[in-house]
Order: sequence, then structure tokens, then C-alpha cells
Amino acid sequence: MHEMGIAEQLVNIALDAIPEDMEHPVVEIVNLKIGRLASVVEHSLTFCFEIITKDTPLENARLKIDVVPVTVRCQSCDNTWEVTGPVFTCPFCKEGDVQMLTGREIEITSLELAE
Ligand SMILES: [Zn+2]
Repeated sequence: MHEMGIAEQLVNIALDAIPEDMEHPVVEIVNLKIGRLASVVEHSLTFCFEIITKDTPLENARLKIDVVPVTVRCQSCDNTWEVTGPVFTCPFCKEGDVQMLTGREIEITSLELAE
């Protein structure tokens, strides 16, 4: 299950982001940005996250996932647009030379710590 590897990476990043001088930090919410094409199954990620955060400051933290749409840019005519289907041909100039801008990211945008 590749969500386990993703959860481990996210947990490491989150733990690094907690200020070292905090005593007994408790993370309440982890805000995440996940691209529509990152192929992350939300409930699998949550499940893995819960297992590996046991006995860490992230135990009981809630994952708040913001799904990022897929946007692409045409290298030929420089238009950008949001893709909702599997078609990756430019609707403006009909070229297929498109570059993906967003849609594959998996990143933590912020942590919300308990007071
Ligand atoms: Zn184009």
C-alpha cells in the first residue's frame, strides 16, 4: 500500500516542523494539499497516518485534505487550463505539447497545534 510510505514521509516532515522548544506539543490538525492525480486514497492515508503517529505529538491529529485540481499549460500557445478528463491536448491550438502545473503534489501546508 503506497499510502504507508506517503504517510511516513508526511509524519517525518510534520515532526520536523514542530518547534523544538515546545513542551508536550500536540498537533490537532494537519493541513494537506493533495493533487487529484497523486493517486492517494484518502481513507487509506488516514488509516496509515493513525497507525504510525501513535505515541507521537501527531497522535489524534486530524488530516484536513485540500484536493488540488489538475492544471496544465500549453507549451505552444501558453494557455493554462484545468483538466477534468483524460484529454491532454490543448483546446486552444489543438497541440499536444502540454506541461502539468498542478495535480500531483502531496504536501503539508500547515500544522495546527493545540494551545
Ligand atoms: Zn495550445
